Parts: sequence; structure tokens; C-alpha cells
Amino acid sequence: MTNSTQVDLLLSGLGKEDADALYPFMSTFNFEEGDEFGHAGDDVSHLYFVNHGIISAVSMMKDGESAEAYMVGSEGFTGVTAWQVPSKTSVRFYCHLAGSALRIKASKLRELASDSAPLRTALAGYDAALQVELEKSAPCNALHPAAQRFAKWLLRAHDRANGDILFMTQDFLAKMLGVQRSTVNESAQTLARAGAISYSRGRVQIRDRTTLLACACECYLAPEAARAPSG
Ligand SMILES: [Zn+2]
Repeated sequence: MTNSTQVDLLLSGLGKEDADALYPFMSTFNFEEGDEFGHAGDDVSHLYFVNHGIISAVSMMKDGESAEAYMVGSEGFTGVTAWQVPSKTSVRFYCHLAGSALRIKASKLRELASDSAPLRTALAGYDAALQVELEKSAPCNALHPAAQRFAKWLLRAHDRANGDILFMTQDFLAKMLGVQRSTVNESAQTLARAGAISYSRGRVQIRDRTTLLACACECYLAPEAARAPSG
């Protein structure tokens, strides 16, 4: 469960010395549902460590089509490789569950990470977990039926949300999954018939997570995988 006092889980594992060096350079960034920031091609000037809420990294196509590349909750941060080298973003960030994050300049984080092995380990652990997720996503999109991918997406959102009810329209879900709205509708009906969810008027209720897990494809990864760096 998340709540308004929770801090980014990744950073909460740092020792006092590293935390004391880092937090003075971070500021609180509150975001509302529907807020968007960043454009593909922009330099990554800041990284956002999510305290609570959900930010989706969305790939936008020239024709206006879009699909989610990855989702960030309190297990991680936006901007990924920018803590190592100056980077450009290839996505737009879309806030789909209101919350807050800690924001830090990319150049400052690079400086701090170069001085702190525990910080580098924490950041690299998240990067590695995200890399695995991204490696799975292309074959997942090519091989797995929409209802399985929808179930996977709902599990990921449920992991990062506060409670069993998620508010999201068919139009939003279609944009995240890169499918037609009719496909979202069919997938929702499939999951509802299985008893995993109920869905009406932009409101998804997770009724049985075990069933939802059984409905999802094998590509679902729990966010805990991102906060257990080895070594
Ligand atoms: Zn899959």
C-alpha cells in the first residue's frame, strides 16, 4: 500500500550519509491526474523519484498513435540513464494517478552518484530491472493476446496504486496499450467474466488479484524486482 507520507522506495534503502548528501538537492513535485511533461528529443534536465502516484512513459507516434513504454511508481524514477550520462528522452511522461515525486537536476545526480557507491547501486538496480521489463515488452506486444496484456497492465497499475479501484477511461487504456477502444472493451469483458475485475464507466475494480494474475501473460514482473539490486 502507498500513502501520502511514503518516500521513493528506491531511495529509502540508502544509508543516512548518502541520504543526507542527496535530499538537500531534491524538491517536491506534485502532480495531478492528466498532467504531462517532457517531449521526445528533450534533454533530460531532471529526474523524478516517485513517492506515490503513477507516471507513465508514453511513446508518441507522428500520426498521433501512442503506447506506454513503461510505468513508474514508488519503486523507481523517470529519466533512467540520465544519472550516468547526459541523455535525451524518447518519451512523454503522463501522470495517470495523482501523487508526488522528488525532483533533482540530472547533472547534480550524476555528481552525487559518482561519489557514492550505494547510490549508484540503487540507481543501477532500477535501471537493470527496467531493462528486463523493456526487453520483454516487444515480444509481449507481438505474441500475447490483448486480454493477457491488459491483465498485466492492470496488475502493474494495482501494484503502484492505493487501493483496488482504478479510474481510467477506455480511451486512456487504448492509448496505453496501443490498441483500439473496442479491444479494450473486449479484454475488459473477458477479465470480468473470469471474475478478475469489474469495469464500468471508467472505473476498474480489481475483484480477485489471484485470478487476474492467472489471466495475465508471463511477462508480468512485480515492482519488488526493481528494488532488490544484487551485490
Ligand atoms: Zn506478455
